[in-house]
Amino acid sequence: MSSNSKLGMGVAVSTSDKETCPDSCPLKSNGCYANGGQLLRHWNAVSNGERGNDWNGFVSSVEALPIGWKFRHNQAGDLPGINESIDLEKLSMLSNAVKKRKLVAWTYTHKPLNEKNLNGIKKAINDGFVINASADNLKEADIFKKQGIPVVVVLPKDSPDSVFTPEGNKVVVCPAQRNENSNCSNCLLCQKSNRSVIVGFRAHGHGKNKVSVVANG
Ligand code: SF4
Repeated sequence: MSSNSKLGMGVAVSTSDKETCPDSCPLKSNGCYANGGQLLRHWNAVSNGERGNDWNGFVSSVEALPIGWKFRHNQAGDLPGINESIDLEKLSMLSNAVKKRKLVAWTYTHKPLNEKNLNGIKKAINDGFVINASADNLKEADIFKKQGIPVVVVLPKDSPDSVFTPEGNKVVVCPAQRNENSNCSNCLLCQKSNRSVIVGFRAHGHGKNKVSVVANG
């Protein structure tokens, strides 16, 4: 269960080991919000095997969640599979568990949207496990939006509450970054697979200057 105030109460949260993060992610070791503080200590412990479980054990724990529970997969780490690839069998196990328990589940990915990965992501979304494609600038957000999956994008630290992409798609800043009473548990915008808007995350935390450089393209 989450102890993260941004997630809010009653949200189950997971962490995947660092080898799941693709080298193509421009935030890897370059401003990623998970690379600091308490979350980094936890992520290190998961990645070196001090904490956590194997995939079968993890999926079993997801299957043990109450029906309809909220589940944010990966406060750090990416979809199963080493580096750029997605392990479709493992992803399917997880999305089946989400479907079986009717979980309100979502996550984000920086894995490349090649045909194989995209098909796996779409299958998971169809099961009710909403996977957001993480774009690193507004131009890339337009490209990802055309793939028919939900999109999030990093924004410069001083970005206004809403902006438009070069192709006219609306980006709204995450409510938890605009209002202290908002959190994932009472928002769930990232869990809406058919939303029209792109969710924007202002660069924040220890790496915000590096992330702002990436977001400015
Ligand atoms: S938009 Fe909503 S669901 Fe997404 S991260 Fe922000 S508060 Fe959480």
